[in-house]
Amino acid sequence: MSDLTKMSAAQLAKAIAGKEASAVEVAQAHLDRIDAVDERVHAFLHVDREGALAAAAAVDAGEVTGPLAGVPVAVKDVIATKGVPTTAASKILEGWRPPYDATIVERLRAAGTVMLGKTNMDEFAMGSSTEYSAYGATNNPWDLGRIPGGSGGGSAAAIAAYEAPLAIGTDTGGSIRQPGAVTGTVGAKPTYGGTSRYGLIAFSSSLDTPGPCARNVEDAALLHAAIAGHDWRDSTSIPQPVPDVVGAARLGATGDLSGVKLGVVKEFAGDGSEPGVLSAFHESLEALVKLGAEIVEVSCPHFQYALPAYYLIAPSEASSNLARFDGVRYGLRVGDDGNRSLEEVMSLTREAGFGPEVKRRIILGTYALSSGYYDAYYGQAQKVRTLITRDFEAAFERVDVLVSPTTPFVAFPFGSRTSDPYQMYLADLFTIPTNLYGGPAISVPCGLSEGLPVGFQVMAPTLADDRMYRVAAALESSVGTLTPPAL
Ligand code: GLN
Repeated sequence: MSDLTKMSAAQLAKAIAGKEASAVEVAQAHLDRIDAVDERVHAFLHVDREGALAAAAAVDAGEVTGPLAGVPVAVKDVIATKGVPTTAASKILEGWRPPYDATIVERLRAAGTVMLGKTNMDEFAMGSSTEYSAYGATNNPWDLGRIPGGSGGGSAAAIAAYEAPLAIGTDTGGSIRQPGAVTGTVGAKPTYGGTSRYGLIAFSSSLDTPGPCARNVEDAALLHAAIAGHDWRDSTSIPQPVPDVVGAARLGATGDLSGVKLGVVKEFAGDGSEPGVLSAFHESLEALVKLGAEIVEVSCPHFQYALPAYYLIAPSEASSNLARFDGVRYGLRVGDDGNRSLEEVMSLTREAGFGPEVKRRIILGTYALSSGYYDAYYGQAQKVRTLITRDFEAAFERVDVLVSPTTPFVAFPFGSRTSDPYQMYLADLFTIPTNLYGGPAISVPCGLSEGLPVGFQVMAPTLADDRMYRVAAALESSVGTLTPPAL
């Protein structure tokens, strides 16, 4: 493996700016690494070799500058990239090349990053393992027989396998954090509205949040800072300055947490977590106490209803958002032989184009929104959402951040959770409350359980994204980063 692929984003940006390495060399090293390992990892659905080398050449020519000039990045395939295939890992969008860039892709270019390609995911970001990708699963670089998490397993695996130093994910219920946890990488969900959804293929519009994936906390903060901030094209984008996440990560890295209060959620204790996950979590709490933090037990009584509320709200919004895939406007069209009605063509297209999990969500959501049931299901779930938000607000009057394991179990073997959807949904037990509330949360590696990575989650109040970076960087300064076995 070339040394360039081992470097952090911060180191690469510095080396390129100081002309110690050219952006083209850096891009080529990562493309070579993809050629060498991606057949085994399958993190990418599309590699844009020409685009990457051209973007890198523009950096070397001095035409593009920016804080991350020349640093490669991989982008989850649910985000629109102009002229570059974007499928959301669904057959229904096979071959679609968006005519425009998402706002965050524009910002990635403005920051000088070099996009290597599009990463694999569960179809339409519904899942926790990438096993629901229509193009085959991604394999976890720690153990190729295990899942890399989901839905953004491709983004997490790409950075864990040193195919890219940075990647973009999206988090609706945990899809950045849970893959981060099970691949030993860092994944952050910004405050909802802190990163633009313009150009993101919508799953659940009131929850979807793009964010950074990286191998260390400072790199995640650098990527966060590059993509965040108000966007007039997204009506839920927050018109406020982005907190200084990079400064907070650097402050945290000094390893001083004196005066910081960490709330441990009582209701999460022992809630189905594997023993190895719990012991890594408790060892991390001890490490944080040594850095000066104070641990406080807090009660969030409504968190236990988060999973059921999410599985009404997210499918309801998905059933409405996915109505646009009708065989007329984008991608796949089936049965249009001149003899069939529009309705028949739509129905044949959707039958052939959507996978089983996506169909399950559409059916669930359509039922929850149907006349006579709306108040009992969707309306009730929205009330629960308010109660969960109040739990967070009450907790943040007592503590600075909440902490928990990111996910109850380490990377599981393929096929072990696909027969019962509920078993798959449990992967997000600890991540979903934050999405319903809208605040930021990060997963940072905190140790191993039976040789597999465990993630530690830090949840902060809305718009206090800097706080979670500080605590995560402090933990990282104590436990270090994780390196998977050589591929
Ligand atoms: N695993 C969750 C789901 O299947 C969350 C997905 C996500 O965050 N995109 O809905």
